[in-house]
Amino acid sequence: MEKKYPYFTEEHDMLRQSVREFVDKEVAPYVDAWEEAGEYDMAAFRKMGELGFLGLRMPEKFGGGEADYWSIVLLFEELARSGCSGFTTAVGVHMEVAMPAIIHYATDEQLQKYLAPAINGESLGALAVTEPEAGSDVAAMLTTAVEDGDSYVLNGNKIFITNGVRSDWIVVAAKTDKDAGYGGITEFIVDTDTPGFEVSRKLDKVGLKSSDTAELFFTDMRVPKKNILGEVNKGFFQIMNNFVPERLLIAVGAYAGAELVLKMAIDYAKERQQFGKPLSRHQHIAFKLAEMATKVEAIKELSYRAADMYNRGLDAIKEVSMAKWYASEAANEVVYDAMQIMGGYGYMMEYPMQRAWRDMRIMTIVGGTTEVQKLIITRSLGL
Ligand SMILES: Cc1cc2nc3c(=O)[nH]c(=O)nc-3n(C[C@H](O)[C@H](O)[C@H](O)COP(=O)(O)OP(=O)(O)OC[C@H]3O[C@@H](n4cnc5c(N)ncnc54)[C@H](O)[C@@H]3O)c2cc1C
Repeated sequence: MEKKYPYFTEEHDMLRQSVREFVDKEVAPYVDAWEEAGEYDMAAFRKMGELGFLGLRMPEKFGGGEADYWSIVLLFEELARSGCSGFTTAVGVHMEVAMPAIIHYATDEQLQKYLAPAINGESLGALAVTEPEAGSDVAAMLTTAVEDGDSYVLNGNKIFITNGVRSDWIVVAAKTDKDAGYGGITEFIVDTDTPGFEVSRKLDKVGLKSSDTAELFFTDMRVPKKNILGEVNKGFFQIMNNFVPERLLIAVGAYAGAELVLKMAIDYAKERQQFGKPLSRHQHIAFKLAEMATKVEAIKELSYRAADMYNRGLDAIKEVSMAKWYASEAANEVVYDAMQIMGGYGYMMEYPMQRAWRDMRIMTIVGGTTEVQKLIITRSLGL
């Protein structure tokens, strides 16, 4: 039979089946417990490493699968079905933010030390760019790295760092030339057991409860020069390149999350009777569901188009920004409407709808806000 989406081969279908089995067995049953505990079980993360999921598109040389980007898309579509956006975010940051951050710029020695254990699930990675005074304006960061013999000495503070509490290594961006603006930033791979590294707070969030988010301090923390990632003073460009896979994954998470709540809303509307008939037989509700379904398909197609370009190695900066902002905003509209359809039950903590609503809210903020995506698009329009 002709496939709806031509991107997925039989090999992808088999991979999807094994990811689905993993999600049904190792993730979905634990969502409530992990959310309540404020962290997921590291055993599930390690299992993903054992199954070869964490390094799907990483080089074989370091234990990866060298698969294409569609394997990542299907992996995260299946993870999203669990309704555990916290775990999905933690894994997403490890696989599609921290790993890509090093893959293009690290030396073979660094990749052996950091990428290989990250692929097999023995170590957890993170990326620390955001600071209290430097969010959207990355170049305004204040953390400094001062050269001293065969090391750099880091001082400063990062905030909102996903996986920051439990990670083994973090790519940290710091100013190596305070007066050079974006041209004075360097990235370092930092071991979290280095003296001077401190997780000062685990932050309490509205959603993504099972994913940890940290505030970090670096006080006279010595990082050997061999831990410089890429080139000195080229960190800003490395960070910007790395935003592409991060944003693409957020777009995938947005439509996949919207697809899940759409299904919940349809099931509920068919079941719930008011005024003598199911909600779905009230034309306003049925039309609302039709609108939601259209939005889901539209943002999925937009994201697939960006994913296809990225997969083929084309410049997809504009398309990824378009997919990221539009998918995350539209997905929030879908989850808002889905909650409305469930009435008071949607607002109750005992139903998963409220979690989807809380978790979806962050999508328009992380990885560069909607406004930042529009700034990027305006540049491509020559404005
Ligand atoms: C749960 C969570 C996880 C995160 N994970 C990580 C992580 O792992 N690593 C990391 O480094 N960071 C992480 N972040 C940080 C995230 O990327 C930032 O929150 C985001 O980039 C926005 O920065 P800010 O919060 O400082 O907002 P600000 O930059 O202060 O922006 C505030 C508002 O002003 C708008 N704005 C800013 N500049 C402009 C402009 N020029 N024009 C128009 N509007 C503008 C913004 O769009 C926003 O609406 C995370 C954040 C959260 C909440």
